[in-house]
Amino acid sequence: MIHDELTLDGSPNLNLASFVHTWMPDEANKLMMENISKNLIDQDEYPMTRISMLADLWHAPDAHDAIGTATTGSSEAIQLGGLAMKRIWQAKRKAAGKSIHEPGPNIVMGANAQVALEKFARYFEVECRLVPISEESHYRLDPQKAMQYVDENTIGVYVILGSTYTGHYEPVKEMSDLLDKYEASTGHSVPIHVDGASGAFIAPFATPNHLWDFKIPRVVSINTSGHKFGLAYVGVGWVVWRSKDLLPKDLIFELHYLGSVEYSFSLNFSRPAHPIIAQYFNFVHLGFEGYKAVALDDLKNARLLSRALERSGLFNVLSDIHRPAPGLLSGVKNTIGFDESDAVNYVPGLPVVSFRFSDKYRAQNPDVQQKWVQTLLRAKGWIVPNYELAPDLENIEILRVVVRESVTADMVDRLVSDIVEIAEDLASSDSPTHALNQLQSNKSAEQHHGKLQKGEGSSSNGTYAKPC
Ligand SMILES: *Cc1c(COP(=O)(O)O)cnc(C)c1O
Repeated sequence: MIHDELTLDGSPNLNLASFVHTWMPDEANKLMMENISKNLIDQDEYPMTRISMLADLWHAPDAHDAIGTATTGSSEAIQLGGLAMKRIWQAKRKAAGKSIHEPGPNIVMGANAQVALEKFARYFEVECRLVPISEESHYRLDPQKAMQYVDENTIGVYVILGSTYTGHYEPVKEMSDLLDKYEASTGHSVPIHVDGASGAFIAPFATPNHLWDFKIPRVVSINTSGHKFGLAYVGVGWVVWRSKDLLPKDLIFELHYLGSVEYSFSLNFSRPAHPIIAQYFNFVHLGFEGYKAVALDDLKNARLLSRALERSGLFNVLSDIHRPAPGLLSGVKNTIGFDESDAVNYVPGLPVVSFRFSDKYRAQNPDVQQKWVQTLLRAKGWIVPNYELAPDLENIEILRVVVRESVTADMVDRLVSDIVEIAEDLASSDSPTHALNQLQSNKSAEQHHGKLQKGEGSSSNGTYAKPC
Protein backbone atom coordinates (compact mmCIF):
# COMPACT_ATOMS: atom_id res chain seq x y z
CA MET A 1 0.00 0.00 0.00
CA ILE A 2 2.75 2.42 0.97
CA HIS A 3 4.70 1.51 -2.14
CA ASP A 4 1.68 2.24 -4.31
CA GLU A 5 0.98 5.52 -2.58
CA LEU A 6 4.56 6.67 -2.98
CA THR A 7 4.46 6.14 -6.74
CA LEU A 8 2.22 9.23 -6.83
CA ASP A 9 5.19 11.43 -5.86
CA GLY A 10 6.60 13.46 -8.73
CA SER A 11 9.51 11.82 -10.54
CA PRO A 12 12.73 13.10 -8.88
CA ASN A 13 14.44 12.97 -12.26
CA LEU A 14 12.00 15.40 -13.87
CA ASN A 15 12.05 17.67 -10.83
CA LEU A 16 14.05 20.56 -12.23
CA ALA A 17 13.21 22.66 -9.16
CA SER A 18 15.54 20.78 -6.87
CA PHE A 19 19.30 21.02 -6.49
CA VAL A 20 19.36 17.61 -4.87
CA HIS A 21 21.13 14.80 -6.70
CA THR A 22 19.01 11.75 -7.52
CA TRP A 23 21.25 9.13 -9.06
CA MET A 24 24.27 7.04 -8.06
CA PRO A 25 25.97 4.04 -9.69
CA ASP A 26 25.03 0.48 -8.65
CA GLU A 27 28.26 0.08 -6.68
CA ALA A 28 27.27 3.04 -4.52
CA ASN A 29 23.74 1.68 -4.05
CA LYS A 30 25.21 -1.62 -2.94
CA LEU A 31 27.64 0.02 -0.50
CA MET A 32 24.83 2.05 0.99
CA MET A 33 22.58 -1.00 1.43
CA GLU A 34 25.45 -2.89 3.08
CA ASN A 35 25.82 -0.06 5.58
CA ILE A 36 22.23 1.03 5.95
CA SER A 37 21.95 0.00 9.60
CA LYS A 38 25.10 1.76 10.77
CA ASN A 39 25.09 4.78 13.02
CA LEU A 40 27.73 7.37 12.19
CA ILE A 41 28.54 7.83 15.86
CA ASP A 42 29.62 4.16 16.10
CA GLN A 43 32.00 4.30 13.17
CA ASP A 44 35.66 3.62 13.85
CA GLU A 45 36.60 5.68 10.87
CA TYR A 46 35.11 9.11 11.42
CA PRO A 47 34.67 11.51 8.49
CA MET A 48 37.71 13.60 9.42
CA THR A 49 39.83 12.48 6.50
CA ARG A 50 37.14 13.84 4.15
CA ILE A 51 37.45 17.20 5.89
CA SER A 52 41.09 17.54 4.94
CA MET A 53 40.20 16.64 1.33
CA LEU A 54 37.66 19.47 1.26
CA ALA A 55 39.99 21.87 3.10
CA ASP A 56 42.55 21.16 0.40
CA LEU A 57 40.05 21.61 -2.43
CA TRP A 58 39.07 24.99 -0.95
CA HIS A 59 42.70 26.09 -0.47
CA ALA A 60 42.96 26.18 3.32
CA PRO A 61 46.49 27.44 4.05
CA ASP A 62 47.15 24.33 6.14
CA ALA A 63 44.73 21.47 5.53
CA HIS A 64 45.85 19.79 8.78
CA ASP A 65 45.00 22.85 10.80
CA ALA A 66 41.52 23.00 9.22
CA ILE A 67 38.67 21.47 11.17
CA GLY A 68 35.14 20.56 10.20
CA THR A 69 32.35 18.07 10.37
CA ALA A 70 29.91 16.12 8.26
CA THR A 71 26.32 17.30 8.70
CA THR A 72 22.88 16.31 7.46
CA GLY A 73 23.07 19.02 4.80
CA SER A 74 24.00 22.66 4.41
CA SER A 75 21.23 23.76 6.77
CA GLU A 76 22.90 22.18 9.80
CA ALA A 77 26.33 23.28 8.55
CA ILE A 78 25.14 26.89 8.29
CA GLN A 79 23.80 26.86 11.88
CA LEU A 80 27.22 25.69 13.11
CA GLY A 81 29.12 28.24 11.00
CA GLY A 82 26.91 31.05 12.31
CA LEU A 83 27.15 29.83 15.88
CA ALA A 84 30.96 29.84 15.80
CA MET A 85 30.94 33.44 14.51
CA LYS A 86 28.49 34.45 17.24
CA ARG A 87 30.71 32.94 19.97
CA ILE A 88 33.82 34.62 18.62
CA TRP A 89 32.03 37.99 18.54
CA GLN A 90 30.80 37.44 22.14
CA ALA A 91 34.28 36.58 23.36
CA LYS A 92 35.73 39.69 21.73
CA ARG A 93 33.01 41.94 23.19
CA LYS A 94 33.47 40.48 26.68
CA ALA A 95 37.23 40.88 26.48
CA ALA A 96 36.68 44.54 25.56
CA GLY A 97 34.30 44.98 28.51
CA LYS A 98 31.31 45.64 26.21
CA SER A 99 27.74 44.36 26.39
CA ILE A 100 26.76 41.31 24.35
CA HIS A 101 23.05 41.98 25.02
CA GLU A 102 22.46 45.63 24.15
CA PRO A 103 21.86 46.00 21.28
CA GLY A 104 22.98 42.39 20.69
CA PRO A 105 24.51 40.64 17.69
CA ASN A 106 23.47 40.93 14.04
CA ILE A 107 24.35 39.09 10.85
CA VAL A 108 24.29 40.49 7.30
CA MET A 109 23.19 38.63 4.16
CA GLY A 110 21.42 39.31 0.85
CA ALA A 111 17.61 39.26 0.80
CA ASN A 112 18.02 36.41 -1.69
CA ALA A 113 19.41 34.22 1.14
CA GLN A 114 18.20 30.64 1.34
CA VAL A 115 15.89 30.01 4.29
CA ALA A 116 18.57 28.09 6.26
CA LEU A 117 20.51 31.34 6.69
CA GLU A 118 17.51 33.23 8.05
CA LYS A 119 16.78 30.26 10.31
CA PHE A 120 20.18 30.63 11.91
CA ALA A 121 19.40 34.23 12.82
CA ARG A 122 16.03 33.38 14.31
CA TYR A 123 16.95 30.16 16.11
CA PHE A 124 20.16 31.53 17.60
CA GLU A 125 18.80 34.99 18.42
CA VAL A 126 20.85 37.10 16.10
CA GLU A 127 19.27 40.07 14.33
CA CYS A 128 18.90 39.25 10.64
CA ARG A 129 19.91 42.14 8.40
CA LEU A 130 18.74 41.48 4.86
CA VAL A 131 20.29 43.59 2.12
CA PRO A 132 17.77 44.28 -0.67
CA ILE A 133 18.66 42.93 -4.10
CA SER A 134 18.41 44.81 -7.38
CA GLU A 135 18.87 44.27 -11.09
CA GLU A 136 22.23 46.08 -10.88
CA SER A 137 23.39 43.71 -8.13
CA HIS A 138 22.48 40.80 -10.44
CA TYR A 139 19.76 39.68 -8.02
CA ARG A 140 22.25 38.95 -5.21
CA LEU A 141 24.18 40.59 -2.37
CA ASP A 142 25.51 44.04 -3.25
CA PRO A 143 28.72 44.42 -1.19
CA GLN A 144 28.60 48.25 -1.24
CA LYS A 145 25.04 48.24 0.03
CA ALA A 146 25.86 45.50 2.56
CA MET A 147 28.35 47.84 4.22
CA GLN A 148 25.46 50.11 5.27
CA TYR A 149 24.26 47.22 7.46
CA VAL A 150 27.61 46.37 9.06
CA ASP A 151 28.54 47.71 12.50
CA GLU A 152 30.48 46.71 15.61
CA ASN A 153 27.77 44.15 16.50
CA THR A 154 27.95 42.33 13.18
CA ILE A 155 29.11 38.78 13.91
CA GLY A 156 29.76 38.13 10.22
CA VAL A 157 28.47 38.27 6.65
CA TYR A 158 26.96 35.25 4.94
CA VAL A 159 28.05 35.31 1.31
CA ILE A 160 26.35 32.81 -1.00
CA LEU A 161 28.35 31.02 -3.66
CA GLY A 162 25.44 30.36 -5.95
CA SER A 163 22.21 32.23 -5.22
CA THR A 164 19.27 29.84 -5.34
CA TYR A 165 17.25 32.23 -7.54
CA THR A 166 19.69 32.77 -10.38
CA GLY A 167 22.83 30.74 -9.63
CA HIS A 168 24.93 33.93 -9.51
CA TYR A 169 27.97 33.75 -7.27
CA GLU A 170 28.01 36.58 -4.75
CA PRO A 171 31.24 38.61 -4.94
CA VAL A 172 33.20 37.22 -1.98
CA LYS A 173 36.41 39.07 -2.86
CA GLU A 174 34.71 42.44 -3.21
CA MET A 175 32.89 41.92 0.10
CA SER A 176 36.17 40.99 1.75
CA ASP A 177 37.98 44.06 0.35
CA LEU A 178 35.30 46.38 1.72
CA LEU A 179 35.45 44.67 5.12
CA ASP A 180 39.25 45.10 5.06
CA LYS A 181 38.77 48.85 4.62
CA TYR A 182 36.15 48.88 7.36
CA GLU A 183 38.53 47.10 9.71
CA ALA A 184 41.33 49.52 8.88
CA SER A 185 39.15 52.50 9.78
CA THR A 186 37.19 51.10 12.76
CA GLY A 187 39.24 48.24 14.21
CA HIS A 188 36.28 45.84 13.86
CA SER A 189 37.09 42.63 12.06
CA VAL A 190 33.97 41.10 10.47
CA PRO A 191 34.42 37.54 9.19
CA ILE A 192 32.80 35.93 6.14
CA HIS A 193 31.11 32.54 6.09
CA VAL A 194 30.61 31.28 2.52
CA ASP A 195 27.40 29.36 1.88
CA GLY A 196 28.70 27.10 -0.86
CA ALA A 197 25.73 24.72 -0.66
CA SER A 198 25.88 24.36 -4.43
CA GLY A 199 28.86 26.40 -5.61
CA ALA A 200 31.58 24.85 -3.46
CA PHE A 201 31.29 21.66 -5.54
CA ILE A 202 31.17 23.52 -8.89
CA ALA A 203 33.58 26.48 -8.72
CA PRO A 204 36.79 24.55 -7.84
CA PHE A 205 36.31 22.31 -10.88
CA ALA A 206 34.67 24.57 -13.48
CA THR A 207 36.27 27.97 -12.82
CA PRO A 208 39.43 27.29 -10.77
CA ASN A 209 40.64 30.90 -11.05
CA HIS A 210 37.51 32.38 -9.53
CA LEU A 211 38.48 33.75 -6.12
CA TRP A 212 36.00 32.87 -3.36
CA ASP A 213 37.45 30.32 -0.91
CA PHE A 214 40.05 30.12 1.91
CA LYS A 215 42.52 31.90 -0.38
CA ILE A 216 40.72 34.99 0.94
CA PRO A 217 41.93 35.33 4.56
CA ARG A 218 38.61 36.80 5.77
CA VAL A 219 36.73 33.61 4.82
CA VAL A 220 36.60 31.72 8.12
CA SER A 221 34.27 28.87 7.20
CA ILE A 222 32.58 27.27 4.22
CA ASN A 223 29.61 24.90 4.01
CA THR A 224 28.42 22.70 1.19
CA SER A 225 25.74 20.12 0.46
CA GLY A 226 27.18 16.75 -0.51
CA HIS A 227 23.75 15.88 -1.87
CA LYS A 228 23.71 18.71 -4.40
CA PHE A 229 26.68 18.99 -6.76
CA GLY A 230 28.64 16.72 -4.39
CA LEU A 231 26.64 14.09 -6.32
CA ALA A 232 25.61 11.96 -3.32
CA TYR A 233 22.07 11.05 -2.28
CA VAL A 234 20.22 13.31 0.11
CA GLY A 235 21.51 13.39 3.70
CA VAL A 236 25.05 14.75 3.68
CA GLY A 237 26.60 18.19 4.05
CA TRP A 238 29.88 19.64 5.30
CA VAL A 239 31.25 22.60 7.15
CA VAL A 240 34.96 23.42 7.30
CA TRP A 241 36.76 26.12 9.30
CA ARG A 242 40.07 27.35 7.92
CA SER A 243 41.76 26.84 11.31
CA LYS A 244 41.06 25.07 14.60
CA ASP A 245 41.33 28.45 16.36
CA LEU A 246 38.14 29.61 14.64
CA LEU A 247 35.93 26.92 16.13
CA PRO A 248 35.37 27.91 19.78
CA LYS A 249 36.39 25.10 22.13
CA ASP A 250 33.09 25.10 24.01
CA LEU A 251 31.29 23.98 20.85
CA ILE A 252 33.33 20.79 20.71
CA PHE A 253 32.26 17.80 22.81
CA GLU A 254 34.52 14.92 23.71
CA LEU A 255 32.50 11.73 23.51
CA HIS A 256 33.86 8.72 25.34
CA TYR A 257 32.30 5.77 23.72
CA LEU A 258 33.31 2.10 23.87
CA GLY A 259 36.77 3.05 25.03
CA SER A 260 37.56 5.55 22.31
CA VAL A 261 37.25 9.32 22.21
CA GLU A 262 35.46 11.18 19.44
CA TYR A 263 35.20 14.92 19.00
CA SER A 264 31.72 16.03 18.14
CA PHE A 265 30.37 19.42 17.10
CA SER A 266 27.31 18.53 15.09
CA LEU A 267 23.70 18.93 16.21
CA ASN A 268 22.76 15.25 16.00
CA PHE A 269 24.02 12.35 18.06
CA SER A 270 22.70 9.47 15.96
CA ARG A 271 22.54 9.72 12.22
CA PRO A 272 22.97 7.33 9.32
CA ALA A 273 26.54 6.61 8.20
CA HIS A 274 25.62 5.62 4.64
CA PRO A 275 25.25 9.14 3.16
CA ILE A 276 28.84 9.86 4.17
CA ILE A 277 29.98 6.54 2.76
CA ALA A 278 28.24 7.55 -0.49
CA GLN A 279 30.13 10.85 -0.52
CA TYR A 280 33.41 9.06 0.09
CA PHE A 281 32.57 6.70 -2.78
CA ASN A 282 32.26 9.73 -5.08
CA PHE A 283 35.57 11.21 -3.97
CA VAL A 284 37.31 7.95 -4.80
CA HIS A 285 35.27 7.03 -7.87
CA LEU A 286 35.11 10.43 -9.60
CA GLY A 287 38.19 12.18 -8.28
CA PHE A 288 38.99 15.76 -9.33
CA GLU A 289 38.74 14.96 -13.04
CA GLY A 290 35.39 13.20 -12.66
CA TYR A 291 33.81 16.09 -10.76
CA LYS A 292 35.24 18.49 -13.31
CA ALA A 293 33.75 16.56 -16.23
CA VAL A 294 30.31 16.56 -14.59
CA ALA A 295 30.45 20.28 -13.68
CA LEU A 296 31.50 21.29 -17.21
CA ASP A 297 28.78 19.14 -18.71
CA ASP A 298 26.09 20.62 -16.45
CA LEU A 299 27.20 24.14 -17.35
CA LYS A 300 27.26 23.30 -21.06
CA ASN A 301 23.69 22.02 -20.95
CA ALA A 302 22.63 25.07 -18.95
CA ARG A 303 24.13 27.35 -21.62
CA LEU A 304 22.32 25.36 -24.29
CA LEU A 305 19.01 25.90 -22.50
CA SER A 306 19.73 29.61 -21.88
CA ARG A 307 20.51 30.32 -25.52
CA ALA A 308 17.52 28.36 -26.83
CA LEU A 309 15.18 30.31 -24.54
CA GLU A 310 16.70 33.63 -25.57
CA ARG A 311 16.56 32.79 -29.27
CA SER A 312 12.86 31.96 -29.00
CA GLY A 313 12.26 35.67 -28.35
CA LEU A 314 9.65 34.65 -25.77
CA PHE A 315 11.92 34.86 -22.74
CA ASN A 316 14.62 36.97 -21.10
CA VAL A 317 17.28 35.01 -19.26
CA LEU A 318 18.33 36.50 -15.90
CA SER A 319 21.18 34.08 -15.16
CA ASP A 320 24.54 34.94 -16.75
CA ILE A 321 26.54 31.71 -17.13
CA HIS A 322 25.96 31.70 -20.91
CA ARG A 323 27.48 35.16 -21.33
CA PRO A 324 31.21 35.47 -22.09
CA ALA A 325 33.42 36.33 -19.10
CA PRO A 326 33.98 40.10 -18.86
CA GLY A 327 37.75 39.62 -19.25
CA LEU A 328 37.42 38.23 -22.78
CA LEU A 329 38.03 40.86 -25.43
CA SER A 330 34.91 40.93 -27.55
CA GLY A 331 36.87 41.63 -30.73
CA VAL A 332 39.07 38.59 -30.26
CA LYS A 333 36.05 36.51 -29.37
CA ASN A 334 34.18 37.48 -32.50
CA THR A 335 37.06 36.91 -34.90
CA ILE A 336 38.76 33.79 -33.62
CA GLY A 337 36.06 32.46 -31.30
CA PHE A 338 36.83 30.68 -28.05
CA ASP A 339 36.52 27.25 -26.55
CA GLU A 340 32.78 26.90 -26.09
CA SER A 341 33.09 23.84 -23.89
CA ASP A 342 35.25 25.49 -21.23
CA ALA A 343 33.38 27.24 -18.43
CA VAL A 344 36.32 29.57 -17.71
CA ASN A 345 35.32 31.54 -20.81
CA TYR A 346 31.94 32.44 -19.31
CA VAL A 347 30.62 34.32 -16.31
CA PRO A 348 31.14 31.96 -13.34
CA GLY A 349 28.03 30.59 -11.68
CA LEU A 350 25.87 27.56 -11.06
CA PRO A 351 24.31 25.51 -13.86
CA VAL A 352 21.00 27.21 -13.18
CA VAL A 353 18.79 28.94 -15.74
CA SER A 354 16.41 31.67 -14.55
CA PHE A 355 14.09 33.23 -17.07
CA ARG A 356 10.91 35.21 -17.48
CA PHE A 357 8.61 36.31 -20.28
CA SER A 358 10.35 38.84 -22.52
CA ASP A 359 9.18 42.46 -22.38
CA LYS A 360 7.73 42.05 -25.84
CA TYR A 361 5.77 38.94 -24.88
CA ARG A 362 4.40 40.61 -21.76
CA ALA A 363 3.41 43.71 -23.70
CA GLN A 364 1.58 41.65 -26.31
CA ASN A 365 -0.04 39.29 -23.78
CA PRO A 366 -0.82 41.32 -20.67
CA ASP A 367 -3.44 38.80 -19.51
CA VAL A 368 -1.10 35.78 -19.57
CA GLN A 369 0.31 34.87 -16.16
CA GLN A 370 3.76 33.35 -16.01
CA LYS A 371 2.82 30.91 -13.25
CA TRP A 372 0.60 29.06 -15.75
CA VAL A 373 3.80 27.89 -17.44
CA GLN A 374 4.63 26.04 -14.20
CA THR A 375 1.16 24.44 -14.11
CA LEU A 376 1.15 23.43 -17.75
CA LEU A 377 4.68 22.03 -17.61
CA ARG A 378 3.62 19.97 -14.58
CA ALA A 379 0.92 18.38 -16.73
CA LYS A 380 3.70 17.20 -19.05
CA GLY A 381 5.66 15.77 -16.09
CA TRP A 382 8.21 18.59 -15.68
CA ILE A 383 8.56 20.35 -12.34
CA VAL A 384 9.74 23.91 -13.08
CA PRO A 385 8.94 26.41 -10.33
CA ASN A 386 7.80 29.98 -10.81
CA TYR A 387 9.15 32.12 -7.95
CA GLU A 388 8.86 35.71 -6.86
CA LEU A 389 12.28 37.30 -6.48
CA ALA A 390 13.40 38.59 -3.06
CA PRO A 391 12.85 42.19 -1.86
CA ASP A 392 13.15 44.79 -3.43
CA LEU A 393 12.30 42.81 -6.57
CA GLU A 394 9.41 40.77 -5.17
CA ASN A 395 7.15 41.91 -8.02
CA ILE A 396 9.33 40.09 -10.55
CA GLU A 397 8.59 36.40 -11.13
CA ILE A 398 11.11 33.96 -12.52
CA LEU A 399 10.96 30.42 -13.80
CA ARG A 400 14.02 28.40 -12.78
CA VAL A 401 15.62 25.22 -14.04
CA VAL A 402 18.48 23.53 -12.16
CA VAL A 403 20.59 21.64 -14.67
CA ARG A 404 21.82 18.66 -12.70
CA GLU A 405 23.83 15.73 -14.00
CA SER A 406 20.65 13.85 -14.93
CA VAL A 407 19.49 16.67 -17.23
CA THR A 408 20.92 15.63 -20.59
CA ALA A 409 21.15 17.66 -23.80
CA ASP A 410 18.31 15.53 -25.12
CA MET A 411 16.11 16.49 -22.16
CA VAL A 412 17.01 20.17 -22.64
CA ASP A 413 15.81 19.84 -26.22
CA ARG A 414 12.45 18.38 -25.18
CA LEU A 415 12.05 20.86 -22.34
CA VAL A 416 12.64 23.84 -24.64
CA SER A 417 10.07 22.65 -27.15
CA ASP A 418 7.52 22.09 -24.37
CA ILE A 419 8.17 25.55 -22.87
CA VAL A 420 7.95 27.27 -26.25
CA GLU A 421 4.78 25.40 -27.18
CA ILE A 422 3.13 26.39 -23.90
CA ALA A 423 4.13 30.06 -24.19
CA GLU A 424 2.85 30.21 -27.78
CA ASP A 425 -0.41 28.46 -26.86
CA LEU A 426 -1.03 30.84 -24.00
CA ALA A 427 -0.56 33.73 -26.40
CA SER A 428 -2.96 32.51 -29.07
CA SER A 429 -6.51 33.43 -28.14
CA ASP A 430 -8.09 30.43 -29.89
CA SER A 431 -6.08 27.80 -27.96
CA PRO A 432 -7.66 25.80 -25.10
CA THR A 433 -4.96 26.84 -22.62
CA HIS A 434 -5.90 30.45 -23.14
CA ALA A 435 -9.08 29.62 -21.24
CA LEU A 436 -6.93 29.61 -18.08
CA ASN A 437 -7.27 33.36 -18.25
CA GLN A 438 -11.03 33.01 -17.82
CA LEU A 439 -10.62 30.50 -14.98
CA GLN A 440 -8.31 32.85 -13.15
CA SER A 441 -10.77 35.74 -13.14
CA ASN A 442 -13.61 33.50 -11.89
CA LYS A 443 -11.54 32.05 -9.08
CA SER A 444 -13.18 32.59 -5.70
CA ALA A 445 -11.44 33.00 -2.35
CA GLU A 446 -8.68 30.48 -1.65
CA GLN A 447 -9.63 27.67 0.66
CA HIS A 448 -7.85 27.60 3.96
CA HIS A 449 -5.47 24.69 4.66
CA GLY A 450 -3.61 23.75 7.81
CA LYS A 451 -3.88 24.74 11.43
CA LEU A 452 -2.24 28.17 11.42
CA GLN A 453 -4.67 31.02 11.08
CA LYS A 454 -3.88 33.88 8.75
CA GLY A 455 -1.42 36.27 10.39
CA GLU A 456 0.04 33.64 12.71
CA GLY A 457 3.54 32.31 12.24
CA SER A 458 6.33 33.83 10.24
CA SER A 459 5.88 37.35 9.01
CA SER A 460 8.63 37.03 6.42
CA ASN A 461 7.86 35.75 2.96
CA GLY A 462 8.05 32.26 4.50
CA THR A 463 9.69 29.05 3.54
CA TYR A 464 7.15 27.63 1.14
CA ALA A 465 7.47 30.18 -1.62
CA LYS A 466 11.23 30.39 -1.27
CA PRO A 467 13.50 28.60 -3.67
CA CYS A 468 15.27 25.60 -2.22
C1 LIG B 1 20.18 24.08 -0.59
C2 LIG B 1 20.76 25.29 0.00
C3 LIG B 1 20.82 25.43 1.39
C4 LIG B 1 20.26 24.38 2.32
O1 LIG B 1 21.00 23.21 2.15
P1 LIG B 1 20.45 21.75 2.52
O2 LIG B 1 21.60 20.88 2.14
O3 LIG B 1 19.24 21.54 1.67
O4 LIG B 1 20.15 21.74 3.97
C5 LIG B 1 21.41 26.57 1.90
N1 LIG B 1 21.91 27.52 1.08
C6 LIG B 1 21.87 27.43 -0.25
C7 LIG B 1 22.46 28.52 -1.09
C8 LIG B 1 21.29 26.31 -0.85
O5 LIG B 1 21.26 26.20 -2.17
